[in-house]
Amino acid sequence: MYKMNYTKLYSSDRSNYHFDADDLPNQCPRCNTVQQPKFVVAYRLNEKVMETLFLCNSKYCNGLFICKYFVTEGIYTDTGQLINSYPKNPERVNFQEEINTISPLFVDIYNESKEAEDRGLLHIAGMGYRKSLEFLIKDYLISFKEEDEKTIKELFLGKCIKGYLSDNIKQVAERATWLGNDETHYHRKWEDKDIKDLKILIDLTIHYISSEIQTKRYIDEMSK
Ligand SMILES: [Zn+2]
Repeated sequence: MYKMNYTKLYSSDRSNYHFDADDLPNQCPRCNTVQQPKFVVAYRLNEKVMETLFLCNSKYCNGLFICKYFVTEGIYTDTGQLINSYPKNPERVNFQEEINTISPLFVDIYNESKEAEDRGLLHIAGMGYRKSLEFLIKDYLISFKEEDEKTIKELFLGKCIKGYLSDNIKQVAERATWLGNDETHYHRKWEDKDIKDLKILIDLTIHYISSEIQTKRYIDEMSK
């Protein structure tokens, strides 16, 4: 238990009270670093709810955030149960260096889609993941496989996959596109699959692309 002083906002009584918090935040919701933020002040909004202000101790963020506690009244002291912290900034997904290099736009679009997904905007997220896949495949073909930029840019994604990818990548990327198209079209063909399956197929596509780039790098660096 952690003792915290608070002021009541729902009465004219401005005395200092304290309550026992069951837990302290161990992460800043704005920058997502794990840490022990500094307690600033607590206000009790009504009988049931306490809101406390904390300061992030990361020098890059150093922002204030709010933790909400549900209050249970006790005989000697009231206790608070930590419910959530906000404002929340979704955590970015980090990709391998070779993926960041060949397709920075894939990384941006994927993370925007994840932000939509984290906020519960699943229709938009699905379309976004489908778009990110198109950037990943086309950038990979242009930057790594050195295919003709104009041709690849103008081709439908399905044609790029069928015509230009090696077998492993082709199998997973093709299935990712099928599910991705379900996210953008009126009629859903793969009813037992959802955004989670689409993300797994994108992950597999990344895995194969990444292995191919790393393998080539080692062959180039260590050729006799
Ligand atoms: Zn922070």
